[in-house]
Amino acid sequence: MAKLLVGNWKMNGLKASLAEASLIAASAAAAKSHAIQLAICPPATLLASLSEAVSGTGLLTGAQDCHEKVSGAHTGDISAAMIQDAGGYFVIVGHSERRADHHETSAVVRAKAQAGLDAGLVPIICVGETRAEREAGQAEAIVLGQVDGSVPDTFPAEGLVIAYEPVWAIGTGLVPSAVDVAAMHRAIHQRLVDRFGSAGASVRLLYGGSVNGGNAGELLHLDHVDGALVGGASLTADGFLKILHAIQE
Ligand code: PEP
Repeated sequence: MAKLLVGNWKMNGLKASLAEASLIAASAAAAKSHAIQLAICPPATLLASLSEAVSGTGLLTGAQDCHEKVSGAHTGDISAAMIQDAGGYFVIVGHSERRADHHETSAVVRAKAQAGLDAGLVPIICVGETRAEREAGQAEAIVLGQVDGSVPDTFPAEGLVIAYEPVWAIGTGLVPSAVDVAAMHRAIHQRLVDRFGSAGASVRLLYGGSVNGGNAGELLHLDHVDGALVGGASLTADGFLKILHAIQE
């Protein structure tokens, strides 16, 4: 299974940022020869132009959210079909910032993931515990509960990605131990296999939370870690490509 490195630009990036994406795209072919797939999820305003700018390079693109409905009176939202129309391949759903800022429940996240699948996108479903939940010894129960609630009942083989992102590791410079990451990823895969049989094992599991060029080598070579979802370090080609180089070694 190819490793997957996805950059989440969040609410960052103007047209000038397309230059960073083009620099990343210039490494996509070499990454592919090392069985590493690269993707960038820019803000919605840049998705179409970025997708066009990197078309044919092998760098995939995606959106950071979608509405669960196909169309209608939902001012400010975008549908999965619009993302597909703009050249997107992935759609991130259930990021902890959306679960917190927009009160998205796992049921809503599941509906959004289903909308993405219906439009031919590959959903990246985010799950992760808070610091308080980990300290209370509830991390695995919380994360597996989010997996149960957020993953749709059917999906195409290899057509789904889950990102384990401990909330306390996002943008903080804090990273769980390799032992804790490996244990959580193993538990998620096991839960998916229990529910879906062998299809569950084909779901790619990304780790997310303060990944950078310094820690990527260790984290991304762990069992059951199929790649990374990267926030801050993906905003520049230099930061993102340091991660690529760390895992190519
Ligand atoms: C994220 O928000 O998806 C993320 C992983 O952010 P960062 O890499 O900045 O911690």
